[in-house]
Amino acid sequence: MKNFDIYTLGCKLNYSESSAIAAKLVENGWTQGGIPEVIIINTCAVTSSAEKKTRNLASKLHRENPLASLVLIGCYSALKPELLERWSGVIKVFGSHNKMGVVDYIVSRSEHQAPTFFDAYSLTDRTRSFLKIQDGCNNHCTYCTVWIARGKSRSDTKENVLANIQKIADAGLHEVNLTGVNVADFGRGTKVDFLALLKAIVKQNAIERVRISSIEPDLLSDDIIKLVAKSPILMPHFHIPLQSGCNRILKEMHRRYTTEEYAAKVKLIKQKMPNACVACDVIVGFPGETEEEFEETYRFLESLPISYMHVFPYSRRPRTHANMMENQISDTVKHDRTERLLELSHAKKMEFYKQCEGQEHPVLIESEVVDDRLCGFTDNYIRVSVPYDEKLVNTIQTVKIEQCHTIL
Ligand code: SF4
Repeated sequence: MKNFDIYTLGCKLNYSESSAIAAKLVENGWTQGGIPEVIIINTCAVTSSAEKKTRNLASKLHRENPLASLVLIGCYSALKPELLERWSGVIKVFGSHNKMGVVDYIVSRSEHQAPTFFDAYSLTDRTRSFLKIQDGCNNHCTYCTVWIARGKSRSDTKENVLANIQKIADAGLHEVNLTGVNVADFGRGTKVDFLALLKAIVKQNAIERVRISSIEPDLLSDDIIKLVAKSPILMPHFHIPLQSGCNRILKEMHRRYTTEEYAAKVKLIKQKMPNACVACDVIVGFPGETEEEFEETYRFLESLPISYMHVFPYSRRPRTHANMMENQISDTVKHDRTERLLELSHAKKMEFYKQCEGQEHPVLIESEVVDDRLCGFTDNYIRVSVPYDEKLVNTIQTVKIEQCHTIL
């Protein structure tokens, strides 16, 4: 079902043109109303207050329908197309002269953009493969453009994922990294969700090691954690984007969890798998983040048994809600906050490494040579090196971690 809506400002002419456009879309199989994929705004520029009304309406519609694409037509569009193109959610701006072109544009765009899933995996690395199992995202985090660019969430089938894993194993590789835009959204709404897929992969037992690339906290269920804890092929390595340790900022970001819920996941992981690697992403300097709120994030991370962090200064992305927020943070402040968290991350990483010193871990030895030694990753994602021996490449060896070096 393809749904659209059309909003009209200004004169009678605009209203008549809007109804002609709506009729044409209906003729082409579209339905007016429901949850719209596309919202057309027929704009007016007769006064500055009409312009303001258009701006407010576009912003409100985008907030209420974050997955809908906004198409702007009419006088204001004709006068200031470059300005309107920068508004969040806007995918196309038409001038007055080619208003009816909007019908052809919407119809052909939808024909060419029906989201389909195509699978992919890498075989260039001799030891590990990245296997795409999911694409797109139905979340609408206010700083992110990926969900706009990639479209709605869709997944491969369980059968195809298993077949691809078999092919990767048959090619002589020992590790698969399950990837996607929102990987644990796999199979959402079907009987085979991400947990069911993981169970099937474990049962298939075609490859020695499987990693989950990155998993949204709200989709990381206790059952997934427990399955990883008891399965020898699912690696004890979690990458769980946090983004902020302050609940107000998480809400502003439209993230779907609280810091308390996040902390509970990490706690369960560490309780079940004390040596598991738990990495996270953090964005600092999100619009409106106060010094106190940053400190809250700092203290939250300090208190958690996180192994290391990827820290990103917030960056403005066109067509996002956060880009329109007024209280942007200066680059200097963002830089300082980034540096502070990177220092904390470094300390946490050393602490994690030290905890593993003296332990034995399985390591998939890769072909990379550093200082006459071969490198590889442990099950819990610590990069280690062993004395060079060609025969070890692409084998899994038990390695005792003797000493940590920060350069690794
Ligand atoms: S940040 Fe991740 S979860 Fe949020 S919208 Fe973007 S891709 Fe989806």
